[in-house]
Amino acid sequence: MVLLVHMVVHSACSRLNLPEYGIEVPLRDNRVEKTLEHLADVLGDKFKEMVRELPCEPVRRGDLVRVHSSEYLDRILNGEATEDIVQIYELRDDKGNWQRYNPQKRVKPFSELIRTLLGQVSVVIQASEIALKKQWCYVLGGGAHHAMKDHGAGFCLVNDIVIAIRRLQAQGSIKSAWVIDTDAHKGDGTAALTQGDSSIKTLSIHMAHGWPLDDPARRHSFVPSDIDLPIESGEEDSYLSSLEEGLNTLVGWGPADFAVVVAGSDPYVEDELESTQALRLSIDQMRERDRMVFRKLAEHHIPQLWLMAGGYGDAVWKVHASFLEWALIEGVTLLGN
Ligand SMILES: [Zn+2]
Repeated sequence: MVLLVHMVVHSACSRLNLPEYGIEVPLRDNRVEKTLEHLADVLGDKFKEMVRELPCEPVRRGDLVRVHSSEYLDRILNGEATEDIVQIYELRDDKGNWQRYNPQKRVKPFSELIRTLLGQVSVVIQASEIALKKQWCYVLGGGAHHAMKDHGAGFCLVNDIVIAIRRLQAQGSIKSAWVIDTDAHKGDGTAALTQGDSSIKTLSIHMAHGWPLDDPARRHSFVPSDIDLPIESGEEDSYLSSLEEGLNTLVGWGPADFAVVVAGSDPYVEDELESTQALRLSIDQMRERDRMVFRKLAEHHIPQLWLMAGGYGDAVWKVHASFLEWALIEGVTLLGN
């Protein structure tokens, strides 16, 4: 069991400290803290073996440029992306007034937030290497699936999912990958960035309507994933069977060398973000969602990198903690290390 170490990773970059930038989006750092507290309680002495803090390092431009345009990278790497942050966190309404933002409460410059978000990418990259070695690694952070080639959106600066996969491909560690995206919102950035790339297959199960699909400004949002599983409001009972069918279709196309799971907790009924209210899964459904994906990948011996992704308000930590408790105690025995 010595191999079962460092399977959950976090870092200083896992904490965005959004209130320090005056940003009032309910993406709270307590989902990281409470998940870690819960794991410390249930794992006891094993906690130190299984959970590790990684350094929050600067990410290399060479890793970003496989996915994003040079113009966009020039802005965000040179600290000139203040307007990008305003757009990414939707801090201005249609009339130009501030929303979700109180400039008087801002005590840090947005450039520091950009540094933290880019540091999260370095953690995701480090975690992708751990996942390859250990068969599974879960990052308390990451999952920026709305970021497009030349701009960020939906609280996502750069697409760490595709960045990590393209890096593993470039260094020859993998050839093919799956992205299984169970966040409430469609993984539109990931679909657009991997369109036409047959080495990366994408599955997204998400709200059938609402942001980003109903936003005419998001023309890239209509790029299909390889498998799209839209769930209508009120049809939550079909969620798990739909996911299972989608996973079976993916498996039917042949194996992959690696999988990234974008495990947003925002489909959970207690999520507080307005734009997630059309999908309301119970804690039992959330638990089964995650176990199903984990079991399917373990069954096919595909290394799994899990990213925390979206989750808003004070209750969503329970989704991550509940899955991780099971995965670290029972799930790991399915990995075949
Ligand atoms: Zn989301």
